[in-house]
Amino acid sequence: MGRIVLNRDKCKACYLCVDACPKKVLAQDTAVNVLGYYPVKVNKEEDCIGCAMCARVCPDIAIEKVYK
Ligand code: SF4
Ligand code: SF4
Repeated sequence: MGRIVLNRDKCKACYLCVDACPKKVLAQDTAVNVLGYYPVKVNKEEDCIGCAMCARVCPDIAIEKVYK
């Protein structure tokens, strides 16, 4: 089981990671970040397989670590 470390204040809400995740782990948060965007949140952490697809597609390096 994997786990990601997400820096919500770097997220610019493009949601590329939401589409890239094969397990639908990520979802839009309901509170804005310091940039004024609705960032992603880790919605179903228990389903994460640590594939790192989310980190690979993020243009803002907001997903900082993926544990396998
Ligand atoms: S890909 Fe990066 S910037 Fe885009 S929504 Fe996901 S975490 Fe945020
Ligand atoms: S590591 Fe893979 S399974 Fe986990 S959130 Fe990222 S894309 Fe989804």
